[in-house]
Amino acid sequence: MRDDPYSELRTDPLTGDRVIVAPGRAERLQPLGGSGRRSRLPRIDPTCPFCPGNEAETTTELYRLPPGQGTAWRVRVVANKYPALSPDSAMELAAPSGPWEAGPAPGRHEVIVESPRHDVSVTELDDEGLFEVLVSYRGRFAAAAADPQVMHVVIFRNQGPLANATILHPHSQLVGLPFVPDLISRKLEVSSAHHGERALLLELVEREIEDGSRLIEASECYATFVPYAAAHDHELWVAPRFLPPRFDRLDDQTLREFGVALRRALALVAEALGDPDYNFILQTPPLLEGAEAALPWYGQIIPRQTVAAGFELAVGVRIVETRAEEAVERLKIALPKVAGL
Ligand SMILES: [Zn+2]
Repeated sequence: MRDDPYSELRTDPLTGDRVIVAPGRAERLQPLGGSGRRSRLPRIDPTCPFCPGNEAETTTELYRLPPGQGTAWRVRVVANKYPALSPDSAMELAAPSGPWEAGPAPGRHEVIVESPRHDVSVTELDDEGLFEVLVSYRGRFAAAAADPQVMHVVIFRNQGPLANATILHPHSQLVGLPFVPDLISRKLEVSSAHHGERALLLELVEREIEDGSRLIEASECYATFVPYAAAHDHELWVAPRFLPPRFDRLDDQTLREFGVALRRALALVAEALGDPDYNFILQTPPLLEGAEAALPWYGQIIPRQTVAAGFELAVGVRIVETRAEEAVERLKIALPKVAGL
């Protein structure tokens, strides 16, 4: 590993995207400080629409654990009050004249409220609490996948204002899209062109384990590492080591183990980087025949340490300031602090 300040171009083997790694710019990174916001939050906030007692303030309830009514829930899923897409938007639109194209935007946009507690962080959920969040992901993924309008499902979590969270109460979101986004199509195309004993992603995971220089840890089922051409500083993937079934067909034990690996990874980011805002994304293949065999699902954690600037917006190429190998060194320092999680 070089420790000089020269930049290099790395190519993401899963997308072909290039990323500029510019360690010389790392001096620009502001000291990473946590806002400490959670410690100042109340256990229940009477003004929060996601807190128990305020169920009537949310839109249609889609799911809850345990099933029932009232305020005694542990996880609750509701339709997003301000949806990007909605199931009933298949109305006829007036076609624009000229070179423009438009159409209806049917789909799904749901909110998964992860705990009745307003002040808890996902890393503070116990095994059962985290498992129930993942069970909810699994159930809502299945419901979206069964919707003939939906071609691709993304589940994600925005933590903090830099990650675009507008409500502090712990929650994730699910969006069911009526088309397959270009980035996802490209990943599937590259993965489908790979002819090996195992899917390209699984091959990459095993190579990361063998190489070790970007690996945080690996268990029998999952590996946590900073990908070679990470497009974000200190980005982490929690990826399976075997070909998993589609996310909605995962068995409880495999889901539980994913929860443990995910919590450790999130806790590591919080400890090592000073509790930064972050996005967690459950990256899944599109709902196309055979896609999950070529492109297994995996978890992606993106700490929000920099924002896209004019350069990124102009050309769609990311600049990162920390080499993946150096990011791992920094993250691993905090491993003792997440022991036992
Ligand atoms: Zn709340």
